[in-house]
Amino acid sequence: MPVPFRQNLRIGTHLIRQRLSGRTHYPFIVEIEPLFACNLKCPGCGKIQHPTDILRKRLTVDDVIGAVEESGTPMVSIAGGEPLLHPDIAEMVRALVDRKVYVYLCTNAVLLRRRMDRFTPSRYFSWVVHVDGLRERHDAAVDREGVFDEAVAAIRQAKERGFRVTTNSTFFNTDSPKTVRDLLDFLNDELKVDAMMISPAYAYEKAPDQEHFLGVEQTRDLFRKAFAGKRRRWRLNHSPLFLDFLEGKADFQCTAWGIPSFSVLGWQRPCYLMADGYASSYKELVETTDWDAYGRGKDPRCANCMAHCGYEPTAVIASLSSLRQSLRALVSTH
Ligand code: SF4
Ligand code: SF4
Repeated sequence: MPVPFRQNLRIGTHLIRQRLSGRTHYPFIVEIEPLFACNLKCPGCGKIQHPTDILRKRLTVDDVIGAVEESGTPMVSIAGGEPLLHPDIAEMVRALVDRKVYVYLCTNAVLLRRRMDRFTPSRYFSWVVHVDGLRERHDAAVDREGVFDEAVAAIRQAKERGFRVTTNSTFFNTDSPKTVRDLLDFLNDELKVDAMMISPAYAYEKAPDQEHFLGVEQTRDLFRKAFAGKRRRWRLNHSPLFLDFLEGKADFQCTAWGIPSFSVLGWQRPCYLMADGYASSYKELVETTDWDAYGRGKDPRCANCMAHCGYEPTAVIASLSSLRQSLRALVSTH
């Protein structure tokens, strides 16, 4: 089952309503980080380097519901840190699902089989399992042996229990078109996950490993060769225009306010990837951020960014302005 038509329609309706109401900045999806603590130490991670007092902080269920209601978004992605370490994560998911908010719960899957009983399958709920490569590559990316096998076992179990399961894969300059294709074939055909998300790694300033991030031309070359004109064979959970962007067939600026990030520190400026301060509400974030100061060619930290959180909203806005692109996105034909 690829991304459900009903879900795409709901998001499309939300976005059209925002435009018709004259709102210029509105979230498509809110990225929630209910904690920064994690049970892994991936060398490419830019989230777990916070000081101990911040790593100990947790968002409450009420914090999350308040943020989601203020933003008006119909879809959230819960990341971190490792969300399954949060003691109230199941209650948080239930409270959002009860409000008919689509929830994508990201996890490295180390705890997934042990925590699965606390969750109930729903068309509003999807697991998002972090898988950066096949066994050897993934275990190297997370710096621990056995994590790939645990993730695969957890995905199979979740599928058997009737959960929607998607994956999120980050690629580095050590990847090749073959490693990308091999991973997507395995997730799509062998594990039969419902949908897959892909991203070139963002060069976090705080990440211990600074050598393996992709530049823009490397990213385009990697995905153009990996897709090789046949990307439709995978259930990729992205708009067709965003995939065109990754391949270098289209280029545009980022829309950082489209997928904002709300964490234990507040609403992060300007995006999930960079932290130039925090606001206490989405409204304050929108009104007090100089959005024109960010993006490729404007801020050197954005130079190599082609991340989904910045560019998927631009692709979706462009799609909404074109009937042909809207139909491509609605039925996810890529
Ligand atoms: S699993 Fe995610 S949050 Fe944890 S260290 Fe790895 S990249 Fe960071
Ligand atoms: S290009 Fe946009 S999404 Fe990427 S880091 Fe810069 S502001 Fe964030």
